[in-house]
Amino acid sequence: MKIAVLKEPAGETRCAAIPETVKKFIALGADVAVENRAGEGASIADSDFVAAGATVGGRAEVLSGADVILAVSGPDPETLKGSQAGALLVGGLDPHRRREAIDAYAAAGLEALAMEWMPRITRAQSMDVLSSQSNLAGYKAVVEAADAYGRAFPMMMTAAGTVSPAKVFVMGVGVAGLQAIATAKRLGAQVSATDVRSATKEQIQSLGAKPIFVENVAGIEGEGAGGYATEMSEEYQKAQAELVSGHIAKQDIVITTALIPGRPAPRLISDAQVASMRPGSVIVDLAADAGGNVEGTVAGESVARHGATIIGATNLARSLAADASALFARNLYNFLAAFWDHEQKRPLLPDDDEIVKAIRLTKDGKTVNERLTAA
Ligand code: NAD
Repeated sequence: MKIAVLKEPAGETRCAAIPETVKKFIALGADVAVENRAGEGASIADSDFVAAGATVGGRAEVLSGADVILAVSGPDPETLKGSQAGALLVGGLDPHRRREAIDAYAAAGLEALAMEWMPRITRAQSMDVLSSQSNLAGYKAVVEAADAYGRAFPMMMTAAGTVSPAKVFVMGVGVAGLQAIATAKRLGAQVSATDVRSATKEQIQSLGAKPIFVENVAGIEGEGAGGYATEMSEEYQKAQAELVSGHIAKQDIVITTALIPGRPAPRLISDAQVASMRPGSVIVDLAADAGGNVEGTVAGESVARHGATIIGATNLARSLAADASALFARNLYNFLAAFWDHEQKRPLLPDDDEIVKAIRLTKDGKTVNERLTAA
């Protein structure tokens, strides 16, 4: 049983393994082969992998005879030539946006498993790459906002006078939003937050922040399958827009994280609302990749609008490559270990398992996942 760890393409700083997970795979009875300089962006030297028991080599050498291939982002199928049919390719494969690549994995006989389609069930929590990376992104969004903000976050009483605390508003209180609230609180800001899921109200309060919620409107629940948000009624959206308008004008920093699975990100802030903010305000839009929560967001860029700065944040976890790799690598290990057959010393993936059904994209030369074949 051989596990290959790929060097990621340019721009991807993270690595799909760390020395700790290499050791754990070896303890399960596997051999681990890591591509040259795979850990470079995450501050892990080849020699660290060797010390953990892995071999290190070129792509062809690492792929040759591998039963499992680990990656953070989906590799170009052309670069996988020489891998053996039936090998598992496990990583963040971005299936919706990379349909052609997924079909090419199928044609190459690989069994592609998309970690971002992990179901939101208790058993899969430790394998959930979206959660582990969003948590870091929520933290980094606040750090970026603080960096771009020309004032301080905490209240400071000095001999030269008082510095007022920054007012931070977090919109969307999932994994990233909760970490953003916690980080802004630690920096001493006055924090408020909103979500469509009423269950988040208590979570906001327990972090010492103020909940800003639409009351007395039909369809307020907002919680759909698997704990995700649903799209809201027109009546709700109107009430939310009015509430937010009044609140946003008094904020210095807004962090938006609202996503609806399979849909473009909901529009939460209009251009007029940006204009109502104090000059020097900063908005970090973590939904930039999904179309943005803010009118005027440009994914991957920081734009000036009406005296405010709108940061279209994409893939912030990459800027925390060492921690992001460690969490991602443990998610991969937890997944493979959960399905490990200790007699055969390899993972066995039952066709009827809820996790396998959700994340398996290709098998036996075909693209098999319903979310792709039904599209
Ligand atoms: P997400 O990234 O899909 O969305 C971020 C947040 O935006 C969510 O809280 C959502 O309710 C909110 N949102 C959507 N539309 C909005 C709107 N119009 N206005 C304001 N907010 C809006 O969510 P997430 O971070 O992945 O987490 C969603 C829930 O799933 C959380 O309760 C989380 O704890 C849970 N979860 C469970 C598991 C598991 O059990 N394995 C794993 C991950 C997350």
